[in-house]
Formats: sequence, structure tokens, C-alpha cells
Amino acid sequence: MAVIICPHCESQEGFYTKEQVRGIATPHYTKEGHYAIDNSHIYDSLTHSGGKRAYCVVCKKYIGKSEELISGLIEEETF
Ligand SMILES: [Zn+2]
Repeated sequence: MAVIICPHCESQEGFYTKEQVRGIATPHYTKEGHYAIDNSHIYDSLTHSGGKRAYCVVCKKYIGKSEELISGLIEEETF
């Protein structure tokens, strides 16, 4: 898999997309009223649209179509 390099600043830090998100979030709170640590489920019922354009995370310039840049894989966390 080729590494994505920004054509503007030559950064290899990756890219981001802009997606419009719609839906209802249901954050959980503990019995003390604290915001719960595991609230990752709140994104499950949200729908995403857009995100067709990819931008460099460093210089924020447009670098290409996200559908051609997204590998479909999820980065493994390495500690
Ligand atoms: Zn850049």
C-alpha cells in the first residue's frame, strides 16, 4: 500500500474529510452524574453524508478524492 504524501507540503501525517452527521446521540451518565467513560455507542445511530474530499491534516489543503485514498482498513493500536 502506497503511503499518501501531501502534494502541497509533503507531509505524511494523513488526511481528514468533512462529513455531515445527523441523528440522535444518547450519552450515558453514572449514578453520580458523571459522564460515562464508555460512550462510544453514541455514534452508532448517527448517519454520515459528504466526506468526498480529502484534506491534509497539516496544511489543510485539498489532496484528492477520499474514496481513492481510504484503504478500508482500521489502524491497529500499537503501544
Ligand atoms: Zn499538506
